[in-house]
Amino acid sequence: MSEYRPGAARRKMGPRLAEFTTFRLGGPCRGLTTCATRLELRRAIEQLGEAGEPFVLMGGGSNLLVSDAGVDAHVIRYFSEKPLIARAGNDLSVQASTRLDDLAAYTVLNGLDGLICCTGIPGTVGGAIVGNAGAFGEQIGDRVVSITAMDRSGNEREMTADELSFGYRRSALADTDIIVVAARLRLRPGDRERLRARRQEILALRASKHPDWQRIPTAGSFFKNIEPTSSAERRQAAGWFLEQAGAKSMRVGGARTFEKHANIIIAERGCKAADVLELARQMAARVKEKFGIDLHREVRLLGAFE
Ligand SMILES: Cc1cc2nc3c(=O)[nH]c(=O)nc-3n(C[C@H](O)[C@H](O)[C@H](O)COP(=O)(O)OP(=O)(O)OC[C@H]3O[C@@H](n4cnc5c(N)ncnc54)[C@H](O)[C@@H]3O)c2cc1C
Repeated sequence: MSEYRPGAARRKMGPRLAEFTTFRLGGPCRGLTTCATRLELRRAIEQLGEAGEPFVLMGGGSNLLVSDAGVDAHVIRYFSEKPLIARAGNDLSVQASTRLDDLAAYTVLNGLDGLICCTGIPGTVGGAIVGNAGAFGEQIGDRVVSITAMDRSGNEREMTADELSFGYRRSALADTDIIVVAARLRLRPGDRERLRARRQEILALRASKHPDWQRIPTAGSFFKNIEPTSSAERRQAAGWFLEQAGAKSMRVGGARTFEKHANIIIAERGCKAADVLELARQMAARVKEKFGIDLHREVRLLGAFE
């Protein structure tokens, strides 16, 4: 756990959040504490509580657009460099600070099926549960039995999957103060070789369609796909509507759409978070004008935007 010094509070003396988001955008915060374990998390929350210091929580920063002005609060980053996973039969207990792709890789090594859809998705298990991350029509919420939730005072309680109301890229946890500390997931036995081959296939597919987030600043799909209006319809890709509306060649300042995928915004040198948001506004306006459809943001905003 990095050190928290109450004396440094009240001014944005902390690091620029650009260092901790895959968009590589965002101004300073009051201070930042990285916690890998539940104990570290609890201690950080207690210290901040004693200092009367407000905080916001982030995981891998892969679904965030942080404002250029930064965040007027302390940031707790619940993130572990190494996977924290325990197996009991077909069930896994995982600390939410674990990288989602580390968890997906663990299931392959252990011959457990059910989370292969999460292969290659950046960020943590905690962030994935809050936003019900997934791909190919499957998502992490399908495997969640329960979570350990922590409130802002450090109190813990178990919540079952039913209470979490998972839906497409959403859960009851979004926009609450609840912190996902750990989760219990139920998988089924799978063939290790078949899972390994599928993992390679998905990694290759993602590499061919998405920008490499380790090199190119992005937060993946900016807008959610469009929900069907009846059970007979399928969810429609926001990227298709954006492409038809001519969004593939759009740019505002240092923000532009990715050449292979109109729903992905990438940040070039000198890009500001405000450029990204303005580009997103213009993209959504084009789709509204051409199709009368409202696009909804998948990427979450942190900090003040005009
Ligand atoms: C190249 C690229 C490809 C992507 N592909 C996909 C994809 O295929 N499918 C998909 O679903 N997503 C995809 N994403 C988006 C992103 O990876 C997921 O949304 C991811 O689950 C976010 O996790 P995170 O830890 O980075 O969350 P963050 O970005 O750090 O946070 C997102 C939100 O979750 C909250 N949060 C984070 N951790 C916790 C916690 N422990 N408890 C409570 N709240 C928490 C934060 O407060 C914030 O509101 C992609 C992103 C990139 C950059």
